Amino acid sequence: MAPQTRRQAAAACAATTAGGQLHEVPTPTPSKATNATKMTAATTPTKSTTKTPEPAPTAEDHSATTSSTPSKTTPGPWWTRPAHPLAALPQDVADRVLAVAPILHRAKRIVVVAGAGISVSAGIPDFRSPDGMYALAKLRPGGARLPRGQDWFDAAVFRTEATTRLFYSLMGSMRSAALAASPTPTHEWLAALDTRGSLLRCYSQNIDDLEPRAGLAAESLVQVHGTLSRVRCVVCHRTAEHSDEVANEFQQGNAPACTACETEAEAREKAGKRARAVGVVRPDVVLYNETHSGWR
Ligand SMILES: [Zn+2]
Repeated sequence: MAPQTRRQAAAACAATTAGGQLHEVPTPTPSKATNATKMTAATTPTKSTTKTPEPAPTAEDHSATTSSTPSKTTPGPWWTRPAHPLAALPQDVADRVLAVAPILHRAKRIVVVAGAGISVSAGIPDFRSPDGMYALAKLRPGGARLPRGQDWFDAAVFRTEATTRLFYSLMGSMRSAALAASPTPTHEWLAALDTRGSLLRCYSQNIDDLEPRAGLAAESLVQVHGTLSRVRCVVCHRTAEHSDEVANEFQQGNAPACTACETEAEAREKAGKRARAVGVVRPDVVLYNETHSGWR
């Protein structure tokens, strides 16, 4: 069995149990295609692939294999081996995974909508669980100023200097946690789908940047809530890397000046031109009560 197929089934398991949503995009039938599906097909061409997929396992395969005594000399199918995640799953869960695996195996245009659940096993908390990000944020120093966990991720944090500093310190800590984490099997599965040419698009709500670190191509990924790996100037809107230097400033509650604005200001001063404002940078993420381009 090809490695990508093993990864595919393992990640299907992870996505199912961690709350990821999987959507197969059927190939439109010409006689029944609507205008919308025609437009989708015309503007998002299917990626080509030269690999021939191997037959995917089925629930019947799994039931038949697990109901018999494995031979000591002949190893069983890969999904029943002790080292494989599927072997540790309850029968009903394994059956559900094996039911969806052939669908994903055949699909040529898959759209994935990913949430925080796919990164929990990497050690990154989700948001709403009892031990999630909202609960952890409230325990931080100064947490009484932002009593609801959601308040830490609301554009209202910029209304006072104190809450702005709290927000920056949280973002610095989250960036450190994201860098310390490694992509999970689900992230690797996304990258494998992309390599195979069957991932139409991945829309991720996560800001931890684990998808590109797993190898997902930039053109296949839409980070709908932004990313902690970048910062953006509030004045000139240029983006830059969220470097260690910037992260250290954030963790102390400071908003560093935009180097692009500073360079431009120096050039204008030398040329004797009128001075312009120098902006500060903030994480390139989208907060509650912000539109995706509203703060630009
Ligand atoms: Zn700037």
